Amino acid sequence: MTYQYWNPGMETISRRGLEAWQLEKLRCAVRHALRTPFYAKRLKEAGIDSPERIKTLDDLRRIPFTTKHDLREGFPYGFLSIPKEQVVRLHASSGTTGAPTTIYFNKEDLMRWTGFVARSIYATGCNRTDVFQNMITYGLFTGGLGFHAGGEEIGMLVIPSGAGNTTRQFRLMQDFGTTVVHATPSFLLHVEAKMREEGVTRENLKLRKAFAGAEPYSEDTRKRIEELLAIDVYNSYGLSEMNGPGVAFECQCKNGLHLWEDGYIGEIINPETLEPVREGGPGELVLTCLCREATPILRYRTRDLSGFYNGPCACGRTHRRLYRIKGRTDDMLIINGVNLFPSQIEEVIMSMKEVGNNYLIVVEKEGALDRLTVQTEVGPAVFTDDSRVLNALKERIRKTLQASITINPKVELHERGSLPIFEGKAKRVHDKRPKDV
Ligand code: ADP
Ligand code: ZN
Repeated sequence: MTYQYWNPGMETISRRGLEAWQLEKLRCAVRHALRTPFYAKRLKEAGIDSPERIKTLDDLRRIPFTTKHDLREGFPYGFLSIPKEQVVRLHASSGTTGAPTTIYFNKEDLMRWTGFVARSIYATGCNRTDVFQNMITYGLFTGGLGFHAGGEEIGMLVIPSGAGNTTRQFRLMQDFGTTVVHATPSFLLHVEAKMREEGVTRENLKLRKAFAGAEPYSEDTRKRIEELLAIDVYNSYGLSEMNGPGVAFECQCKNGLHLWEDGYIGEIINPETLEPVREGGPGELVLTCLCREATPILRYRTRDLSGFYNGPCACGRTHRRLYRIKGRTDDMLIINGVNLFPSQIEEVIMSMKEVGNNYLIVVEKEGALDRLTVQTEVGPAVFTDDSRVLNALKERIRKTLQASITINPKVELHERGSLPIFEGKAKRVHDKRPKDV
């Protein structure tokens, strides 16, 4: 296979060259950070009163971590390093885990961000002949405008369709010959189910690729979308604190996500001890933004669980690859003392062919115990007069789940289209337990 690079010099730079670049950019980031109310105090307390204190990349570890809590405390301008007149845009996080946080950009920040998104899209083999339908929420969420700008930078025809309204999405795909889409994995699964319902066949479409991200999903979910739609699906990772999309992205090898290390420094730490994890992980990903002046953010604890692969990638890029993100540290459920990530359940059910594309996890209190219920959709063939078919399938799903997660769940089967649908990030877990327990 031949690989194409948007920025060949930077994408295949030697590790030494990359580290020299990172050191220079880290000093710039510290210089900007010292101009913000938050870091002026925090960095000085840590003995870093000038960028000159950063002598080597190892000095990064002298910088204290920044948390989501810090960003919320600093709202609205605690992290702003430039005069307000120079700010040209703001974005906010989705607020999945609480109050959203705000990020500001100047003109050059936006250009640099766009460069990283363009590089990511190009790494999947797209070019200016592609027609790109951006099926994700526009607005404060970074996924809309971020991908939009990156697609235009490459020269693709970008259709700003936004999320939702599958009938309209299909019409746009057919009218303009869409070849690439961007969506959350849960929306892509929904699109596939709707296609069958509305009689849209693969042959009516020119679709070849999808970028799927903004929420965790398993390798089995990727395979399912790829097989059902006969397309290539690439994992896209980003967060508003680090601009948005274009932080880490899969290349055509689909073997981990290249973290664009000229824009972001990645570390993996143990979330309990806060010490670096040897051999790259797994652990919590910590990111330092090297490419934004208006809102510098240093050593941000993402709470996302990942790690680094060892060794080079066949595509020739020298930027290290992250594992597929398993979830956030705060997604973890404790069910009768057993730790469980929702992604573990998804992995099992998405690998079972009989199970449909949608599911919901419900946790309740039953007396003193926790009760886990997994609701999944199944096709009409299962709902016959003979309840044995239904019960046998239920039992098989329950047993497979129990073998994998070591918790005995209750399984409920629902008709297709009856579980809630999410156009943005899916909310798969409904934890009904009282909060103080
Ligand atoms: P919020 O943190 O409120 O959801 P963002 O919109 O900035 O706000 O979303 C960023 C978060 O989305 C990441 O920190 C991560 O938890 C999740 N995310 C984004 N892309 C992926 C991906 N490809 N795989 C897993 N999780 C992802
Ligand atoms: Zn690669």
